[in-house]
Amino acid sequence: MNKKNNINNSKGVIIGDNNTQNININKKNNHTKYKGEKENNIIYEYLAPILMKKLGKNKIILIGTISLVLFLFGFFSYLNGVSSIKLISYLPSLNYNWMIYFLIITFIIAVIFLGSLYFFNITQCKKCLNSFAYEEYKLPDVDEIKLHDGHKIITIRYYKCKYCGNEKTENFDEFISNEKKN
Ligand SMILES: [Zn+2]
Repeated sequence: MNKKNNINNSKGVIIGDNNTQNININKKNNHTKYKGEKENNIIYEYLAPILMKKLGKNKIILIGTISLVLFLFGFFSYLNGVSSIKLISYLPSLNYNWMIYFLIITFIIAVIFLGSLYFFNITQCKKCLNSFAYEEYKLPDVDEIKLHDGHKIITIRYYKCKYCGNEKTENFDEFISNEKKN
C-alpha cells in the first residue's frame, strides 16, 4: 500500500534531542540539511539603485503597479479573445497580434520595477537606514523536510550591512508537492 506509517513520524519536525546519531535522527525524521547557494540578484543590484536615484520610490511604485494592472487586463482580455467561451465576463474580448508584444513589455516593466522595489526594501538596513546595504555574507543553511504530500524547503539566509555591520537572518519557506501518480 503506501508508507504512511513512516511519514506520520515526521510530523512535529524538531531535530536533535540528542547529539548522538544525529545523521540517523535526521534521516528518520526525513530531514536533509545542507549549505545552499547565495542569491544571484545581478539585475536588481545593477538596476534598482539607478531607478531609485533617477525616479524615487513613489514613481517606481506607480509605474510598476500600472504595468502590472495593464498586463493583467491585457492577459485576461486576450484569454477571453482566443478562447471559445468568455472566461471573465466583465473584461472585453481582445484578440490582436500586437497584444503579445504588449503583454511581454508590460510584464517585463512590472517585474523590473516591482522587483527593484522589493530589492530596495529587503536591502535597506534596519539600523543605519542606508539603502542597498545588506549583503549575504555566508552560505545559507537549507533544511529539506520530506512530508507525506511533498517537500518543505526552509532556507535561512544571513545578511550583514556593509556600512554599520548590522546582521539579520531571513527565513524562506518553499513547499514542493509530490506529483500525483495514482
Ligand atoms: Zn547599517
